[in-house]
Amino acid sequence: MTAQPLPRMTPWVEGIHAYVPGKAKLADRPVVARLASNENPFGPSPRAIAAMQSVLADSHRYPDPAATALREALGAHHGIDPARIICGTGSDEILHLIAGAFAGPGDEIVHVRHGFAVYDIATRRVGATPVVAPDADWICDVDAVLAAVTDRTRVVFLANPNNPTGTLISAAEVRRLHAGLPSDCVFALDAAYAEFAEGLYEDGIGLANEHANVVAVRTFSKLYGLAAQRIGWGYAAPALIDAMHRIRAPFNVPTTGQAAAIAALADTEWAAMTREHTLRWRNWLSTEITALGNAGLRAVPSAANFVLVEFAADGPVTAAAANEALMADGILARHLAVQNMPNCIRISIGTEAETRAAAASLRAFVARATAA
Ligand SMILES: *Cc1c(COP(=O)(O)O)cnc(C)c1O
Repeated sequence: MTAQPLPRMTPWVEGIHAYVPGKAKLADRPVVARLASNENPFGPSPRAIAAMQSVLADSHRYPDPAATALREALGAHHGIDPARIICGTGSDEILHLIAGAFAGPGDEIVHVRHGFAVYDIATRRVGATPVVAPDADWICDVDAVLAAVTDRTRVVFLANPNNPTGTLISAAEVRRLHAGLPSDCVFALDAAYAEFAEGLYEDGIGLANEHANVVAVRTFSKLYGLAAQRIGWGYAAPALIDAMHRIRAPFNVPTTGQAAAIAALADTEWAAMTREHTLRWRNWLSTEITALGNAGLRAVPSAANFVLVEFAADGPVTAAAANEALMADGILARHLAVQNMPNCIRISIGTEAETRAAAASLRAFVARATAA
């Protein structure tokens, strides 16, 4: 008997490596610090929690498909037109909508090497071809991105600050990148970590006000501590928003998420507290890592809520061994071997105690490993 043919995935889906999330648990010991997914260690604002509780009894009703109140709150908060905002199931959905609305088989989508892992998946999912521009010392190289653009490029994805590197390019560099793109190429500026950047910074909202080919992408998962509620948004010219609405899931942000996001935006004190804590402990952790420079560790300068630790390829200790040592101490960080960065560990900023525990674990590991 001949075997019946089985359903086959498309060749482009076959090319996708499924997203590998950060670890949330250890098999054999309690977790001391969960620093693998750039989450807010304090949780959401208490006002966001209360807002979610207040709508739980409406759970039998579909959420507002247009997220009207949330878009109005975002419009007021950022001084922008709510009609130009689209909300998504996390900003991940917004990234997929951009790829799906503007690219397909035969088209190219450019992103930076060592960029956010979802860009490759979103590109391949729609049958488009990912084109990877080399970076320079973990930083986006604008000339390399522009050199990767061809007449088939439909979208350029850029995370700024970038994940997993934490690096930032200046407002002037972002604008130079945009100015070098053809007007029919979408520039998707993913500002998931916008609130942690300092100095002259372009979050994409200004660019999207001025140009018809820019989407500013934002999330409530990082600063606002609402990762479980899956709330992201995009801001762009009406024609781009219209295209994205055609393919989004109709009820893509739950009622709890919409209510939580509105309350979180209003709690500016909670957001400021998280931001100040993050910047302070990011600098502290970077200094601690720099002090381990003799063992080949380096803190890549970060503008986000995490620090990328690079281990010298020929140094006395490896990132893989350091990650094992962290896990033995109950600390979950992200070893980036799956992203072709085997010499790097990304450590999210936790509470003071968590961040201190991570640094102490690394210090003790280095001391053990380098003791003669
Ligand atoms: C975390 C992250 C996102 C996605 O966040 P959502 O939870 O889907 O909103 C998007 N882009 C970058 C660069 C991120 O690090």
